[in-house]
Amino acid sequence: MGRTVYVNGEFVPEEAARISVFDRGFLFADGIYEVTAVLEGRLIDFPGHLRRMHRSLGELDMPAPVGDAALESLHRELVARNGLEEGLVYLQITRGAADRDFAWPAEPEPSLVMFTQARGLENSLAGREGIRVISVPDIRWGRRDIKTVQLLAPSMCKMMARRAGKDDAWMIEDGLVTEGTSNNAWIVTGDGALVTRDLSNAILHGITRAAVLAYAREAQMRVEERAFSLDEAKAAAEAFVTAASSFVTPVVEIDGIAIGSGKPGPVTRRLREIYLSESRRQAI
Ligand code: PLP
Repeated sequence: MGRTVYVNGEFVPEEAARISVFDRGFLFADGIYEVTAVLEGRLIDFPGHLRRMHRSLGELDMPAPVGDAALESLHRELVARNGLEEGLVYLQITRGAADRDFAWPAEPEPSLVMFTQARGLENSLAGREGIRVISVPDIRWGRRDIKTVQLLAPSMCKMMARRAGKDDAWMIEDGLVTEGTSNNAWIVTGDGALVTRDLSNAILHGITRAAVLAYAREAQMRVEERAFSLDEAKAAAEAFVTAASSFVTPVVEIDGIAIGSGKPGPVTRRLREIYLSESRRQAI
């Protein structure tokens, strides 16, 4: 049986889900998205995803198609209709259909699409054993803080990694790591500090990043929000990435160089456990 998808006010079988060819998401990548993890049928970090959705919409002067309470109900209903126990809910809002014009329509009718993806998240191979990444130039646009559907550059970078026989890529600008293709990048220094890039237009403001930072501080870990170089990352004791779709995932190799012991490190493993138990406790 196929999935049930939500499109502009209706729950429909996935093969019946339709969007106009004039939709500005299709023509201009004029749209934003969110991805929320689901564990045991419950939404992880949902308030954070809602907050960032509003921030992305605000930066693009785009109206929200429905209110927050309605959006939460739609998430729950979609999860229930699809019997989703573990996986992801994808939400996309575009400025909707209008005759093609670079200028935004004065009275947009935004499109809202949502679908689920069933996927084992908690016991993934990557989570247990870690991933291997390559470094690539960060060729994305200058407003990476807005979670837009303009994802061709990260797709190209991910394919470069695949062709190199690796799992993912870390993107580099001026010798400094910005982030992973679809996750935030972290290192653990030799003296035990957690380092992740500070917030700016250079990176997406990850919801998982924010949660892990808060949990790490609660656990009295030393945290530094600052840029770090590729060289510093290669010499780090541990490295990992964070994202809604992968929680805390160890990085065990960068550009063919083993990080630390070349196995997931103790700090990373502990943070993954803390993240999973805390976010599950707060799931809705
Ligand atoms: N950075 C980029 C470029 C991303 O695409 C993502 C997620 O898609 C993240 C970071 C992680 O963000 P979050 O933790 O909110 O999933």
